[in-house]
Amino acid sequence: MNTTPSPSASVSASAPYNFLFSSCPASRALSLTATATLFPSHSSPPSSVSLTTSFSFLQNPNFITGNSLFHSMQCPLRKGRRKKREKEDNETRFCSGSSMSRNKAMVESLQRYGVIRSNKVAEVMESIDRALFVPNGAGAYIDSPMSIGYNATISAPHMHAMCLQLLEKNLQPGMHALDIGSGTGYLTACFGMMVRPEGRAVGVEHIPELVSSSIENIQKSAAAQLLKDGSLSVHAADGRKGWPEFAPYDAIHVGAAAPEIPQALIDQLKPGGRMVIPVGNMFQDLKVVDKKSDGSISVHTETSVRYVPLTSREAQLRGY
Ligand code: SAH
Repeated sequence: MNTTPSPSASVSASAPYNFLFSSCPASRALSLTATATLFPSHSSPPSSVSLTTSFSFLQNPNFITGNSLFHSMQCPLRKGRRKKREKEDNETRFCSGSSMSRNKAMVESLQRYGVIRSNKVAEVMESIDRALFVPNGAGAYIDSPMSIGYNATISAPHMHAMCLQLLEKNLQPGMHALDIGSGTGYLTACFGMMVRPEGRAVGVEHIPELVSSSIENIQKSAAAQLLKDGSLSVHAADGRKGWPEFAPYDAIHVGAAAPEIPQALIDQLKPGGRMVIPVGNMFQDLKVVDKKSDGSISVHTETSVRYVPLTSREAQLRGY
């Protein structure tokens, strides 16, 4: 893999090197070498360097695991060592009880890389142990998306962090947050922790089995009480229609790529609200949609991404 710094690297406040690869065959066409390009030395990564253009796309599925900020530091590419780390993750989670300290180390890495820039996002990600949301807890702290079954994935930690960071101002106590394509429930739980007390976090996921398992995950987490008191809920439904019951929302996150921004989601966004949504098919952009107080909309592209599609349940289950 090329580790020469790209001439297109530039300094920016954001960190748009995030790609999420699904487990679906349709997503296996593209990959990114940005991690190696950005941080060739693995030693003291710059806190705010990003690529603005010229991502390297490779028609090579072997590069699919390259979408990580710090796997080269925490989980070397060599298969033997990756297996060892996964074993350690399991042992840590199930035996030593220090899973939370591994989770904290993951959060600290994301802070060092400049993805997490606020104390609130760091605190929330520290409080919600990612291992509870990853199947079997294996490799939970590796900066990579992972399959959760049903042709879906849990997003990579840096992608979760980036979305929390982008939405932070709209995730204040008392606010309403909607998580479309909530999958494992990880971000829904984080949203719930950020908007409490008196806020509301709503997950919408169209695979009923994932809804059930996400509720179980949240029940084991620091957000369990929110489920009990009803301020956090997860619903089995087509997220393209949003969830009108608790609209309007201050924050909407969409965890799957839509061919275009669903009107229902724009309608359910509060004036002053913000939506983060990946838009596109093969090539996707993470769009930030802001609804102004007069109801008008502004949209900007944060970065290029690769998410599973926001689609029908049938299309997803047959592999898109
Ligand atoms: N953000 C989640 C999951 C991301 S994967 C996490 O990190 O755990 C995208 C999720 O969107 C999948 O769980 C998939 O089942 C769901 N999805 C795709 N299309 C959907 C739709 N139309 N309505 C609701 N959920 C959808």
